[in-house]
Amino acid sequence: MKKILAIVLALALVLGFAGCAKNKNTTETTTSAPADTGNALKIVCTIFPQYDFVRAITKGVKGVELKMLLAPGDESHSYSATLEDISAIDSADLFIYVGGESDAWVAEVLKTASPKKAIALVDLVKTLEESDDGILAAEEEEEEEEGAADEHVWTSLNNAIAITESLKDTICELDADNAETYKANAQAYEKQIADIDAQFTAFFAGVKNKTIVIADRNPFRYFCEEYGIKAIAAFSGCSSNNEIPLAVQNELIKAIKDNNLKYVYVIELNSSNYADSIAAQTGAQKLVLNSCHNLSKADFENGKTYVDMMLENYKTLSASMA
Ligand SMILES: [Zn+2]
Repeated sequence: MKKILAIVLALALVLGFAGCAKNKNTTETTTSAPADTGNALKIVCTIFPQYDFVRAITKGVKGVELKMLLAPGDESHSYSATLEDISAIDSADLFIYVGGESDAWVAEVLKTASPKKAIALVDLVKTLEESDDGILAAEEEEEEEEGAADEHVWTSLNNAIAITESLKDTICELDADNAETYKANAQAYEKQIADIDAQFTAFFAGVKNKTIVIADRNPFRYFCEEYGIKAIAAFSGCSSNNEIPLAVQNELIKAIKDNNLKYVYVIELNSSNYADSIAAQTGAQKLVLNSCHNLSKADFENGKTYVDMMLENYKTLSASMA
């Protein structure tokens, strides 16, 4: 308890009590025992992709306490850790974050909080450098970091498989008694992901113009790379910017017209009106693509998965780009 208190005090200074009034994050416990008996395998995830992979891997295993720090429905790029979150990270057996610029706060937290094991998704797969290709808005000076890795590694289905496999190995090490279940679960989930990848591969092999226009951020660098899609977007993947300047709106409109596109895309949970205005000016229809950073509270409670969201992307893209 003393240790927790020291951590809380240290981090209160670091984080300036950011968001400490919030207490909305979610814990899913598959044990009937109280949450802090100390026997549960405690796994804490920052955002949805790794939460989803771990939920699939640990399905049906009693005594796994899985927590997602980001509250469903919230914008992941403006998340800040609460004192309760930090205490959960400290007492976790496994803490899984993304790594990269949105998780700059993690390094600070891990100076004092000490989960048994901490894993960054960007360390599990080959990363691509952030790129300005197809990004229309100039980024703020402070956001530019030369050579930084694009952190949205999970948007590639093949990366999702590799990440699930790697997380499964770690979870098996932490809880060898249930290794057989974890292995079977991971294998089944990886098969579902591979099936969607096969559908995308087959579909895009027959698409001539693989240009899409996103009136939003573009966190799909890894996804686009897999299938040769050329994305033109307002902002880079993790931009905190969400007001599209008029000049950029006009460039998006031009890109839609030049490429003869009938659709304009936005990312899930986007509430801005820019895409509607661009759609109205071009006659294009607005469609939603799931980046899978997070999902609505209702979808979360209904158990919607990464696979469900990628299948929605498949339906959307195969209907709109055929
Ligand atoms: Zn992001």
